[in-house]
Amino acid sequence: TKSVCIVTGASSGLGLATTKALVDSGEWHVVMACRDFLKAEKAAKSVGLPKGSYTVMHLDLASFESVRQFVKNFRSTGMPLDVLVCNAAVYFPTAKEPTFSAEGFELSVATNHLGHFLLARLLLDDLEKSESSSKRLIIVGSITGNTNTLAGNVPPKANLGDLRGLSGGLNGVTTSPMIDGGAFDGAKAYKDSKVCNMLTMQEFHRRYHEKTNIIFSSLYPGCIATTGLFRSHIPLFRALFPPFQKYITKGFVSEEESGKRLAQVVRDPSLNKSGVYWSWNNDSSSFENVLSEEASDPEKARKLWEISEKLVGLA
Ligand code: NDP
Repeated sequence: TKSVCIVTGASSGLGLATTKALVDSGEWHVVMACRDFLKAEKAAKSVGLPKGSYTVMHLDLASFESVRQFVKNFRSTGMPLDVLVCNAAVYFPTAKEPTFSAEGFELSVATNHLGHFLLARLLLDDLEKSESSSKRLIIVGSITGNTNTLAGNVPPKANLGDLRGLSGGLNGVTTSPMIDGGAFDGAKAYKDSKVCNMLTMQEFHRRYHEKTNIIFSSLYPGCIATTGLFRSHIPLFRALFPPFQKYITKGFVSEEESGKRLAQVVRDPSLNKSGVYWSWNNDSSSFENVLSEEASDPEKARKLWEISEKLVGLA
């Protein structure tokens, strides 16, 4: 029988390429957890996934109700859960004003961090029950949240501050929509959310690795300059970004290559160390990367965990 992996945001970009790589291995059944059912079905067909090799299930990370419903629906299928990949994300680099999730939280942190935090917490039990000797929970990170890198130093830089905006509920009315309590900045909100993703993975590792044997990991798949993530950027940026990454920074990776990388983190026996943030060299060999001071601060990770628990209704 095949192993089962849930991939959030499998309808495009990295999520779709990862789904393709896993299905092509012949050993995996992928649950594509997507907000747009028709788009996901079309995407699956467009990359030639055979019928029966995947299941599309509805998940809107911008609604806690939807996250809870997804977990119920998944459980009702009776499938085991061997690996969960938290991949979906939104990015609003040119937004002048914040937008909000169903429960009223700034949309990029709500989708990229809070929705995944709730999903991962709820599915931890299911992962623990998996009979696989290599069960994994993966949260996709990014270089942009890492201020110890060149890319992470392009302003506005990620900075969670003392998390006062997050504690206040990121609602843009009684509190700032930004985690650090500052003025709204869409690009920074995205970077902050990726720092949350990397901190969350490490906190999961500290709290649950020994107890559950689950392998927790994060990664930077490389700059996939062609995905939908940049859809709301200005046209000039969208035209120049891929060649810039290809020829100037040389950090460009194709969607196919990035999907192979994430699929390695899902199934490669040698990438079985928990608590690691994986990256790849230009020759596509993987290595354990070092996170920035903020993205590896255990005190901040603990505080983020506790506040997030309250916001998603788990505490
Ligand atoms: P895409 O925009 O191509 O894919 C994002 C996916 O997330 C889409 O399937 C989208 O669904 C889904 N999504 C967005 N909002 C929700 C929601 N509310 N509920 C459920 N699904 C949702 O971007 P990428 O493939 O580039 O991004 C994937 C991951 O890779 C992200 O975590 C990103 O931070 C990370 N990453 C990307 C890099 C890059 O260079 N592109 C670099 C480093 C990290 P829909 O199709 O319906 O819009």
